[in-house]
Amino acid sequence: MQVKAAVVTEVNGPWRTEVIEIDEPRSHEVKVKMAFAGMCYSDESLRNGGISQIPEILQALSGRDTIYPVIGGHEGAGVVESVGDGVTSLQVGDHVAVSFVPSCGNCDYCLSGRSYICDMGATILAGPMISDGTWRHRLGGTNLNRMCQVGAFSEYVVVHEASLIRIEPWLDLRAAALISCGLSTGFGSAVNRGGVKPGDTVAVIGCGGVGSGAVLGAVHAGARAVIAIDTDPSKVERAKSIGATYGAENTLDAAFNILPELTWGKNCDVVIITVNKMTADLVEQARSITAKGGVIVLTSLAPFDLTTVDLNVQLLAMYNQEIRGTVFGSENPRLQIPRLLRLHHEGKFDVDALVTSEYSIDEVEEGYKDLKSGKNVRGVVRF
Ligand SMILES: [Zn+2]
Ligand SMILES: [Zn+2]
Repeated sequence: MQVKAAVVTEVNGPWRTEVIEIDEPRSHEVKVKMAFAGMCYSDESLRNGGISQIPEILQALSGRDTIYPVIGGHEGAGVVESVGDGVTSLQVGDHVAVSFVPSCGNCDYCLSGRSYICDMGATILAGPMISDGTWRHRLGGTNLNRMCQVGAFSEYVVVHEASLIRIEPWLDLRAAALISCGLSTGFGSAVNRGGVKPGDTVAVIGCGGVGSGAVLGAVHAGARAVIAIDTDPSKVERAKSIGATYGAENTLDAAFNILPELTWGKNCDVVIITVNKMTADLVEQARSITAKGGVIVLTSLAPFDLTTVDLNVQLLAMYNQEIRGTVFGSENPRLQIPRLLRLHHEGKFDVDALVTSEYSIDEVEEGYKDLKSGKNVRGVVRF
């Protein structure tokens, strides 16, 4: 069938809405009619090459040395339109959220309760279908890759069933789209990976979509104080509107103007880095406002070639501090997405305030311009 999708055809090329061809789902695949897709900064990093795998790895995983052309979008929700052979977890008409982390249920990581690092994740920045290594989406005669095995900026998607999370039909599909990536990732970065406890002091560096999730997570976990740090004052204000107790422009500002009085010089128990793009200087900046015995959670995406960072190793050791990486906030998508949606349904998880604008599938390029200019915290494509 022919559908509209927002595609990038070359590094730094614009988001272009094209009519593409998609096939019917094959074995263990599902076709979903998308209702909403969230506009996460990671897709911008896909567009500008910031998260491109090295060509040799792409070649090995997909038989070609580039991710382009690629359909963007990895957070979204919709309704199952049809299913291929062997699909047992879903049926036509089911409501689903997509998950940028597929979970197979069978690998060592899934079996040990860590499906957020499922082995199927190896292919999420490569492109062809997990099921058989071929493609279901084409532009002209060219096979299309999909961001994180999803490609949510498309009226319909064909994905492996491992990339879909069934949700109850009465839950809000727009909230599901937002919770399917950024908000869950941020929430888990605070609650799961950061292990925020009642009474903790928490700092969140970078207050976009993921950072907002981290603020909400810290508040839910009972933090005594949450410091929202962002160079954009409007993002700090928004973070305060969802529960952050203090705002700062950068870590120095927090270190001099907030933490001495707030913590009597002890600094933060947990510091979470959720900026759009990780940079080398941020690790030490975060460490410098972390308490003895404290935890630094590294959630932001970084370029694959960022291998050197600033870090006072002596202080890290002597202060007994810890740096932890995370994907999907170190929580299982099949557990986290329905759980946060239930909280949202009961009015205990305010995500609607974060949606600053809705766009059509023809306006994805405009939506990302708004995101970069700071007009948006989270834009959403409504299909
Ligand atoms: Zn995302
Ligand atoms: Zn697995």
